Amino acid sequence: MEESVTLLSGGLSTELEAAGLLIEGDPLWSARLLHTNPQAIKNVHTSYLKSGSEVLSTATYQASIKGFMQHLGANVDEAAKLFHVAVNLAKEAAEEFNMQSKEKRNIIVAGSIGPYGAFLHDASEYTGSYTRDMSIESASSTSFGDKFEEAVKVATATHQLVAIGVNCCSPDLISSILSSANKSCSLDTDWIVYPNSGEEWNHSVGWQGSKPVKLLSDYALEWVQLGARWLGGCCRTSPADIASLRDVLRADGPEKH
Ligand SMILES: [Zn+2]
Repeated sequence: MEESVTLLSGGLSTELEAAGLLIEGDPLWSARLLHTNPQAIKNVHTSYLKSGSEVLSTATYQASIKGFMQHLGANVDEAAKLFHVAVNLAKEAAEEFNMQSKEKRNIIVAGSIGPYGAFLHDASEYTGSYTRDMSIESASSTSFGDKFEEAVKVATATHQLVAIGVNCCSPDLISSILSSANKSCSLDTDWIVYPNSGEEWNHSVGWQGSKPVKLLSDYALEWVQLGARWLGGCCRTSPADIASLRDVLRADGPEKH
């Protein structure tokens, strides 16, 4: 793999659903399983490690103290503890993976923090109806209607970011988004590319349509050329998608680890 490219994980809920667990429609999404079935979350982390992931995202995208109190009946301390559970599950999966495999991979545990709209559980993080959302709606603008590159300029004003990017949009939008942003911003940060599978989400019926013919791995080299250095997948992507990203990105040279 090109030395500077780091492989992220794929969709957590997709794999939990593949294991027979009901996630869709739950106001806590996969975070409920931190309380009811933590082993299932750890199993998914392990699947992604086996596929080549170097970063595990915690099962906390739709989690909040208030949400745990409302939907699990937890008190404040119990709710806070569930965030520790989420981090520890990823750490344990990483430690066990490194103990059991010959390779000793440097695995990062990333805290997944969804936007405020995720907590509302009304898909407003996609429509931008609650605030200046960063979701990508077209090849050049956020759901709120801002130019993507203008939003990037605001975000990079902090000088504290390691990388900035796009998540859970269709993979076929990404190259044009990165190209236009590359032209208008000079960035010190790297791009993160974390698209969904390309299927369509409808808030009343869920994911619909069949899987697109083109896979994430078909786009990967183009994204790397455009400056993507953190690659993974969001909703409806699987360990197989991450494994094929690994195969494509490592095709030109020895494995990173
Ligand atoms: Zn997603």
